[in-house]
Amino acid sequence: MADRRPRTVVTGAAGFIGSHLCEALLDRGHAVVAIDNLLTGDLANIAHLRERDLQFIRHDVTRYIDVDDPVDYVLHWASPASPIDYLELPIQTLKVGSLGTHNALGLAKAKGATFVLASTSEVYGDPLEHPQRETYWGNVNPIGPRGVYDEAKRFAEAITLAYHRYHGLDTRIVRIFNTYGPRMRLRDGRAVPAFMTQALANEDVTVFGDGTQTRSFTFISDLVDGVLRLMEADTHDPINIGNPHEVTIEEIARSIIELTGSTSRIVHRPLPVDDPKQRRPDVTRARTLLGWAPGVGLREGLVRTVGYFREKVADRP
Ligand code: UDP
Repeated sequence: MADRRPRTVVTGAAGFIGSHLCEALLDRGHAVVAIDNLLTGDLANIAHLRERDLQFIRHDVTRYIDVDDPVDYVLHWASPASPIDYLELPIQTLKVGSLGTHNALGLAKAKGATFVLASTSEVYGDPLEHPQRETYWGNVNPIGPRGVYDEAKRFAEAITLAYHRYHGLDTRIVRIFNTYGPRMRLRDGRAVPAFMTQALANEDVTVFGDGTQTRSFTFISDLVDGVLRLMEADTHDPINIGNPHEVTIEEIARSIIELTGSTSRIVHRPLPVDDPKQRRPDVTRARTLLGWAPGVGLREGLVRTVGYFREKVADRP
């Protein structure tokens, strides 16, 4: 790398994970070019970074991405990411995963930058292998309502590896498992923000299905740590980053009610179509190739998240 500070483009920079990545990169001395069209992102997430070396560009990455000057890394995080969002924005979700990834790869190629793709545990669909290793090909319904996200991300992985193999681009793929923490949107629809918002307002907590489906929840700082390690690693194969501690959705709903001191009760609602029944990462690759392990347990992570939600719920009109 040249004799200057690294310069990194983050797409989806005003989103939940994107904004935490920007902050961590600035802390490491990177200059950051933050791109977002604010479809599901929020400028408030990066407002406190504007006085640092962060340049914000409001842009939809499904169109040509124009960035001046050298770029060392492109982190492609732009996408609706909650099931409710991608059900409401199916075409945008497909476009950002396909056209958006193509443009972000094109930018990385033009600049000779390292490209990092935010992929997802959703590439495994409703998995028949448990826990999920990166070698598992998945069980995805391409035409179901979740297919718009799952297939866009599967395409994104395919085109990323095509750029690596055909153009020799330096690429990384991280498969992100359910991640939570401050800056998630209250009405994002995902389990942790939904349950926290409901519990803090003493409203019914809506568990979909019978609540026996499982997820493995990762605190945001652990995810960011994994991504930063991956940026510096020499590996092009996909890598799972997720806390292998698996819980049922009913359990996490109960924990959140208890932790918030709420009087809410749990009510059951219909299970969304193709909702995966179980999910837990095998993190052998992350451990051996990146030396990564999660450091924040579920209870501690929820405690660190609830303060943020408490303030947000109090500020609601
Ligand atoms: N879920 C729920 N109630 C909610 C939101 C989500 O029971 O208000 C369930 C959802 O059906 C799924 C799990 O929680 O089984 C995790 O859902 P989320 O939307 O957080 O992410 P997913 O892992 O499905 O992408």
